[in-house]
Amino acid sequence: MSNHLFDLVRSRAPALDRIFIETGSGERRTYGDIFDRAARYAAVLQDMGLAPGDRIALQIEKSAEAVALKLGSIFAGTIFVPLNTAYTPAEISYFVGDAEPKLLVCDPGRREALRACADDVGARVETLDPEGRGSLAELADLTSPAAAPASRGPDDIAAILYTSGTTGRSKGAMLSHDNLASNALTLAEHWRFTRDDVLLHALPIYHTHGLFVATNVVLMAGASMIFLPKFDADEVMRHMPRATTMMGVPTFYTRLLQHPGLTPDATRHMRLFVSGSAPLLADTHRDWRAKTGHAILERYGMTETNMNTSNPYDGDRVAGTVGFPLPGVSLRIADPDTGAVLPQGEIGMIEVKGPNVFKGYWRMPEKTASEFRADGFFITGDLGKIDERGYVHIVGRGKDLIITGGFNVYPKEIETEIDAIPGVVESAVVGLPHPDFGESVVAAVVREKGATVSEAAIIAQLSSKLAKFKQPKRIFIVDELPRNTMGKVQKNVLRDGYKTLFTDKGAK
Ligand code: AMP
Repeated sequence: MSNHLFDLVRSRAPALDRIFIETGSGERRTYGDIFDRAARYAAVLQDMGLAPGDRIALQIEKSAEAVALKLGSIFAGTIFVPLNTAYTPAEISYFVGDAEPKLLVCDPGRREALRACADDVGARVETLDPEGRGSLAELADLTSPAAAPASRGPDDIAAILYTSGTTGRSKGAMLSHDNLASNALTLAEHWRFTRDDVLLHALPIYHTHGLFVATNVVLMAGASMIFLPKFDADEVMRHMPRATTMMGVPTFYTRLLQHPGLTPDATRHMRLFVSGSAPLLADTHRDWRAKTGHAILERYGMTETNMNTSNPYDGDRVAGTVGFPLPGVSLRIADPDTGAVLPQGEIGMIEVKGPNVFKGYWRMPEKTASEFRADGFFITGDLGKIDERGYVHIVGRGKDLIITGGFNVYPKEIETEIDAIPGVVESAVVGLPHPDFGESVVAAVVREKGATVSEAAIIAQLSSKLAKFKQPKRIFIVDELPRNTMGKVQKNVLRDGYKTLFTDKGAK
């Protein structure tokens, strides 16, 4: 009997008394300890009657015990479904209704609020708190570890991750044992992780970045991680002297840049900073290098595909690009409508194929079929291009593309011009419904502290740089851009907020 992912994790582990996870409060857990807990959780799941392929929904805070539980689910052959800790019980009831888990694990404080939706699908409810205690942990204390991992092949599903769903219903991406195993191995090698690495981990573990990219790379290398409950710039700086690597979303880097403790000295023994999940501003890349001497390595992936591209470990890490396709990943730029591959340099739909790409959306065969080309390439929904050196550039989500008076406008091009204006920190460009043009270009702009650059001044400066149809008709000065927990700008929130700007009376 073999279990594709668990066997690999086990085979890559260092001596069992080596530290795997150290928490912010100083709790140290060895590989042996976490594997023992995983085998105990597997036994608990089996005792409850869960069979391979059954789902476990988890709305739990980040803890070492939560990692053990997820490994326990892989051990037992079940499918875990991590859910954002910010979701309300009403939102959770959608995911529980869709995934139909046999077990729902939540924070003790949520047990009562979630009971009704669990009852609807006949799921049992158990708890795990941020300290890793709760009814499920108690059951694991009392049981004997399961003897051997359940038999699971490369194509069996290990996890279902729901996409953030900014438009329409959130979809469950089915990730197989080999999707996770192959990508983790590739990344650990590509980014040169070894047993001596200590990863500073301040990401949530319900999202692919913190859950798979960060945690699984550590597992594949037999390295260790400092596991912080959330991103807090002071805490990150406090722990950095003992770390060698960090993975973060762009907002980690912009916030750390404001921290007085960020100096070349504080980061001297760090060998790698990785950024992803949202675009890293070229300015942030430059400022980080100026302040620390390190070039942030930007990579690109998504829930459905794991990681697709990465800037090189050796060689130029080019700001504003996401690097080259990872080994084993095929990436092409295609015409969004026809799927025809476009000549190098042209902007189009990014499509990918490889062992990293998911097995489809849970119980949505038609949706799945419509997102793959006949030759197996997955249509990412991201627009981009490949430059003459082979670096991939992302220009935005396809759904953020603006069509005004029949012309395509790529928000990134406008944002880059606005961001270059002195006094501007960042911007987000969206299209709003317009009675004449179909859509009209509008920007939200965040200014530097004390800067007075105005709407009129920005529009005036853009007029010599951009064709008329690309120039924003209005600029809104805002304190900050709306972002989700992974640091992604929520353009749908901006669009909703301003949606009647041109359609109400007085439209220009
Ligand atoms: P998620 O499924 O939440 O990980 O979101 C995936 C999406 O995040 C991708 O489809 C991209 O639109 C975006 N994304 C991820 N990494 C990057 C990056 N380095 N630069 C720009 N966008 C990114």
